[in-house]
Amino acid sequence: MANWETVEVTTDLLICGGGMSACGAAVEAAYWAKKNGLNVIMVDKATPTRSGAVAMGLSAINEYIGYSKDENTCEDYINYVRQDLMGIARDDLVFNIARHVDSSVHLFEKWGLPIWTDENGKYVREGRWQVMINGESYKVIVAEAAINAMSEAGFEIYERVFIVGPIMDGDRVAGAYGFSTRDEKFYVFKAKAVMATMGGAVHVFRPRSVGEGLGRSWYPPFNSGSSTYFTVMAGAEMTCQEVRFIPVRFKDAYGPVGAWFLLFKSRATSAEGGEYMAVRKEELSNWAPYGLVKPIPANLRNYLGMLDTDAGLGPLYMETAEAIQNLAEAYKDDKKAFKKKMKELESEAWEDFLDMTVSQSILWAAHNIQPESSRSEIAACEPYFIGSHSGASGAWVSGPDDIETPYKWGYGNMTTVQGLFTAGDGSGASSHKFSSGSHAEGRYAAKQAIKFVLENNTQPNVGDLDAIKEACFKPMDLFDANKGYTTDPDINPSYIRPMQFMYRLQKIMDEYAGGVSSAFKTSKSLLERGLELLAMLKEDADKLAAENSYELERCWENVHRMCQAEAHVRTMLFREETRWPGYYFRADTPKMDEDNWKCFVNCTYKDGEWEFVKRDVVPL
Ligand code: FAD
Repeated sequence: MANWETVEVTTDLLICGGGMSACGAAVEAAYWAKKNGLNVIMVDKATPTRSGAVAMGLSAINEYIGYSKDENTCEDYINYVRQDLMGIARDDLVFNIARHVDSSVHLFEKWGLPIWTDENGKYVREGRWQVMINGESYKVIVAEAAINAMSEAGFEIYERVFIVGPIMDGDRVAGAYGFSTRDEKFYVFKAKAVMATMGGAVHVFRPRSVGEGLGRSWYPPFNSGSSTYFTVMAGAEMTCQEVRFIPVRFKDAYGPVGAWFLLFKSRATSAEGGEYMAVRKEELSNWAPYGLVKPIPANLRNYLGMLDTDAGLGPLYMETAEAIQNLAEAYKDDKKAFKKKMKELESEAWEDFLDMTVSQSILWAAHNIQPESSRSEIAACEPYFIGSHSGASGAWVSGPDDIETPYKWGYGNMTTVQGLFTAGDGSGASSHKFSSGSHAEGRYAAKQAIKFVLENNTQPNVGDLDAIKEACFKPMDLFDANKGYTTDPDINPSYIRPMQFMYRLQKIMDEYAGGVSSAFKTSKSLLERGLELLAMLKEDADKLAAENSYELERCWENVHRMCQAEAHVRTMLFREETRWPGYYFRADTPKMDEDNWKCFVNCTYKDGEWEFVKRDVVPL
């Protein structure tokens, strides 16, 4: 066993992760914990000021209801989310986030985030729900507030500590274990309640980018399925594990399209110029009622573009030049005003990328693309697991404490495991919370977690952790014991290095579970074969080897990804219909089946076996 020092830390509430939901949790928990004489600890594998999906910044806050300004109601938002998820959403959770989200946005502004306002001081909307921001430093601002709240309360934040998994005391969570990626330290965090807020998962599927570009994906590479692994291994019921997200984005650098569609009113077309949303409109009636209501669900919009690609009409394009010209048209009689407007639109186009996807600007420059005079390629990305965005995978959590809901068994946002809470990408069936909603949900969940601690104020037993420590460091021991047997450390019959392991996982998922190279299509037979190959990969996970702490992190990231992969494949297999074409298409059950499958599919992993159950969708 690697001879690393064991550090034991005891707390009341442990927040795993340092992203949007964890930062929301920290702000709220610090307040309530201090007031009640409790302690809180936050642990991030990176550093909260630049960790998680918002690390690079964003150009819009995607959920802002504006109910105090009579712009929208929470009910409007519930209807929008349920519709976008083809009928499968938890209204109670979506409502709970919607009613709290505006206050998170107001806090962001108070903390220093520049939100665009018009001449009347009103937030500039990108679409109905989004507000535009100068967001390069969005995460820094949100994290600073969390760090300040924690430090003012005297609570600690552990950075560069990778959480591997949960520690259990029977059916109750007792803490978490992990290791430092900088110092030789094994950490045991003992807690009365835990929040698993470690984001979603990327690189489960083979990305379009290969070789040196491997890390380039729409979803930043930092999140590797740790929320899923943590909750699954704790024995929590999971939901919507089949609902992956595939965004259509500017090709290869994954630049955002929201501003183009919503703000610039751009069209997306095939190479031949047909606008697939118009040309293929009839197809939408096959997915009624969801296909016939505006806004059309994101997966169906994807699907119409994919039909063009399947028909050989690709590449697909965003008509940026046309959109800019259309917007400047109103100024065409005044040459000077026209020129000024064109310049303004051009700079907004570039800023959209510079705010959150700098590499897209570099790619535009490298490809000689000038948005005001040439169109730009778009494509469907590889699949991701991001339940806070337009996917829905996550843990099945108890509904809000103060409203009537059939989904209630404990404290709000608590999983089916005592003391284990989650939010953001960690909680399922409540999509479209985005950055702001994840923050708001984190705040709510943390307040409930503190209540749980106050009412269950005993320190659970963590038992003997020698076996856990040994398993945690096994990859390093395996490498050390066998590295001398071959001249090239990459090739060794006694172990597999994490990069090669990840390639294998991605190949299985890509080819059998409906990745890019299989045009997002799969079937019962493909999924069953995929499971056979995953079983062999699982066996080989025991032979993962790590040369140093960074590789150890890569090993465990892959184990987490593999867990997400298996939950996904098994759930797609269980659901015998196609409900989200454009995200995945089951070629053997190509139609939506409202009579039998308008339900949540939930799964639990216990004693090495997966159990599946259908749960009713009950609209509020
Ligand atoms: P994250 O914010 O991703 O945080 C996850 C945290 O967990 C990170 O701190 C990470 O370091 C940590 N972590 C992961 N694994 C471990 C581990 N094993 N141990 C310890 N720590 C760990 N929202 C908007 O409002 N507007 C937008 O324009 C927008 N655009 C987006 C564009 C992209 C490309 C993406 C990916 C997301 C976008 N979103 C947007 C959505 C928003 O980023 C997410 O909804 C939000 O970040 C989810 O919050 P979270 O806390 O669940 O995860």
